[in-house]
Amino acid sequence: MVHVVRENRTKFFRVKCPDCQNEQIVFENASTRVECVVCGRILAEPKGGKAVMKAEVLSTLQ
Ligand SMILES: [Zn+2]
Repeated sequence: MVHVVRENRTKFFRVKCPDCQNEQIVFENASTRVECVVCGRILAEPKGGKAVMKAEVLSTLQ
């Protein structure tokens, strides 16, 4: 019997705040609004279980 393990890896996005250029990590499935830690700008908003990025995505991490 073969068990197929479906790894549901959470992705992370490295985003850059368009206002203050701060870089921070945002979860792909963030369930709450993500704000820039420096200036408070909204970087991502939850929508349908996934976060919608409101900032420039620099890279995707797993
Ligand atoms: Zn900022």
